[in-house]
Amino acid sequence: MPNEVKSLNEECGLFGIWGSNENETAGLIHDGLHSLQHRGQEGAGIVVMDNEHHIHRHRGLGLVSQVFSDNYVFDDLKGNIGIGHVRYATAGSHGVKNIQPFTFHLDDFTDFSLAHNGNLTNADTLKRTLQSKGASFNSDSDSEILGQLIKMSKQVKFIDRLKEALRQIKGGFAFVLSTGDELIAALDPNGFRPLVIGRREDGSYVVCSETCALDQVNARYIRDVKPGEVVIINNNGITNDFFTNDTNLAICSMEYIYFARPDSVIHNVSVHEARMRMGALCAKENPVDADVVIGVPNSSLSAALGYAKGSNIPYDMGMIKSQYVARTFIEPTQKKRERGVSMKLSVVKSVVEGKKVVLVDDSIVRGTTSKYIVQLLKRSGAKEVHVRIASPALRFPCFYGIDIQTTEELIAANHTVSEIKDIIGADSLGYLSVDSLIKAINLKNDHGEGSGLCTSYFDGKYPTPLYDYQAQFDKSAEELGLYEEDNYIERSI
Ligand code: SF4
Repeated sequence: MPNEVKSLNEECGLFGIWGSNENETAGLIHDGLHSLQHRGQEGAGIVVMDNEHHIHRHRGLGLVSQVFSDNYVFDDLKGNIGIGHVRYATAGSHGVKNIQPFTFHLDDFTDFSLAHNGNLTNADTLKRTLQSKGASFNSDSDSEILGQLIKMSKQVKFIDRLKEALRQIKGGFAFVLSTGDELIAALDPNGFRPLVIGRREDGSYVVCSETCALDQVNARYIRDVKPGEVVIINNNGITNDFFTNDTNLAICSMEYIYFARPDSVIHNVSVHEARMRMGALCAKENPVDADVVIGVPNSSLSAALGYAKGSNIPYDMGMIKSQYVARTFIEPTQKKRERGVSMKLSVVKSVVEGKKVVLVDDSIVRGTTSKYIVQLLKRSGAKEVHVRIASPALRFPCFYGIDIQTTEELIAANHTVSEIKDIIGADSLGYLSVDSLIKAINLKNDHGEGSGLCTSYFDGKYPTPLYDYQAQFDKSAEELGLYEEDNYIERSI
């Protein structure tokens, strides 16, 4: 796919606060973003609105601790309302101009800022239309489109402009916005990305991507934002509205499998416990005679514990991870990813030496990491390595906010399970089934039926039309013979 489209994709973390002490706001956003660092490590930014409704912003490339390493930065970030963002982006879209939050000047009375997690599936079309009407973009990011649509709207009230704009964008999106006196949160009609509301003891409200960020700033969880909902927080407290009633919860199952922190709770389901159940069900579906179960740190440890419990094979700490290297999946280039893996993982030899080892991992994307780990375990003396993946095989691209948009990048789209086993050098390989994944997460959608999950990474059943991505997806699916041979998917939704 064209680089310019791919570079729009991102997986990010959001944090917004309303009503905090003006000297504490930026610090609280900083702490919240720090706990969301796993969602994006390429850049971070904070915007604070002062009492005169002026915007103050600091943003930069790197980790939160790097971008905000100088304390003097906080001297310029005073106000009672603010939002922050941590960002992951693909190669080719580096540069401070793409670091959020983005800021906009609407009229003499209104400046606003916004931050986005997700991916818009009709971004190219909307951008072309907006440019033809004179809009001038300051970034390469699809996230800016919402701001430009708000600016172009003929509605009078800000909230009506926002709702009109939200009705035009498609795909996966969670937004936090701040105006001079309001914090606003909005979620797409399928609720692909998590977004929660909480409240601190001082009365301030927080909206953020995961409950771990609420815990970080001592905020009490109130509820998850609903699909299609706009939540408005101002001097009147919390009010809500819906920009559409055509909603159907399909939250990204990869949030439970990999992205979210295990101490987060999404739609009342503990991420750690869901991962434990995935591991236990994987053990039932893929039993093996082995001496020890180990997990790939850190995101697979809950699933490895679950596998050990489900199989009655002892769990042990067979691998450790350096805390100072970024996650491999969200490193932007293959070369950086490979280097990242070798720098971050090491084996506790006494745990695996001479043993038949079950290695539990949360997923296999390209196969690079799995191959390296199997080799590492064998070099460290493991007699056999049986790889168990506590999620189904990733065979289809994601268009809702994850950086895998072509089937070429997915090993399971191009190889059978047996071929993957050989490629990664494992003695056996087993995946969790989609049915068991749904059972393990055990979520209900907002109408009380269905799984409430997006599982299209695994089964190709996309909950929405793909808009600008449909032609590209059809091309890869046809090249791989998915439509004809395997009958995995229907040609159109
Ligand atoms: S396609 Fe996969 S990664 Fe994308 S939203 Fe659906 S489950 Fe999540």
